[in-house]
Amino acid sequence: MTSIRRRDLLAASAAVVLLPRVSRAEPAPIPVAVSSANGIPAVKRACELLDPALLATQTRTSTVGRDHRPVHAAVQGVSLVENDPKDMSVGLGGLPNENGVVQLDACVMEGTTGLGGAVAAIENIQNPSQVALRVMDRTDHVLLVGKGAYRFARAHGFRHAELLTEAARKRWLRWKENLSDKDDWIPPERDKGGTITCLARAPNGHMGGCTTTSGLAYKIPSRVGDSPIIGAGLYVDDTAGAAGCTGRGEACILNCASFLAVEFMRQGRTAMQAALETCRRIVARTKAKRLLNAGRPAFNVKVYCLRNDGTHGAASIWSGGKYAVRDAKGARLEPAQFVFKRS
Ligand code: ASP
Repeated sequence: MTSIRRRDLLAASAAVVLLPRVSRAEPAPIPVAVSSANGIPAVKRACELLDPALLATQTRTSTVGRDHRPVHAAVQGVSLVENDPKDMSVGLGGLPNENGVVQLDACVMEGTTGLGGAVAAIENIQNPSQVALRVMDRTDHVLLVGKGAYRFARAHGFRHAELLTEAARKRWLRWKENLSDKDDWIPPERDKGGTITCLARAPNGHMGGCTTTSGLAYKIPSRVGDSPIIGAGLYVDDTAGAAGCTGRGEACILNCASFLAVEFMRQGRTAMQAALETCRRIVARTKAKRLLNAGRPAFNVKVYCLRNDGTHGAASIWSGGKYAVRDAKGARLEPAQFVFKRS
């Protein structure tokens, strides 16, 4: 009896050890960054800041890349998009909440230390990603919200900024004027919002990431999405990989989507498989009738993955998605995998 038990035990432990694992590629010798499709400038900037050749040429007085952490590189990358008034999904020019007020969410995470920082529903600060980095670096907390986050940013020297651009105000006003279905106006197509996520890996294997957004357009004031929630909109762990999400934040929160994607990579899946498997999980867990259209999710989520060996991939629930990447082959958009093909 005892020997059978021992044999069973041995077989069981062998099964654990021998679980099929996807073999890891040779670690990339150059920096790699992955981002949402609006993140070409972000991946270029992040990789520039982590380029060993560039770092070697820097003098002590240089301001370029003084901070060599991937989390910092990711923040600098997304800051370019936060500062772009034409991108209506983040920072300056982001679409406002239903009261016409721009409220921003962002988080950062560092794969080496396991630390993270975030701000949610912050107003009048153009670079919430940088404030999130300060929360991580300069406090013992992870998440600051609303007025407290604003005061914290001001204490750290961030400027008070009007973030509602004329273009965003006009879009909001058009939405507001067409709110009622009891009049003769034909409502415009609903603006969805958007987000940028950026995941970066340095040649030494250290990883960091950042997700930043103005959230869903015309949201209920103080609604917080997945972007500032560690594990939902972003998760980074040097021992497995990094993941970020865009799309319907509520679905990413309810499914701990980024954390799940990183755990899938830890189990041995490729970055692409991990992203797709996470989308499939969200599909399987979406059961409320109001969220379904002919039995399938009536919304989209995109998951972006960068494995700790520098390989990458992305997937979305609905086809047509792309992701930005910068690796040995340069900066470009790559197609994302999908669960359902749009008809
Ligand atoms: N994930 C963002 C949020 O829910 C929005 C988006 O990516 O479109 O706030």
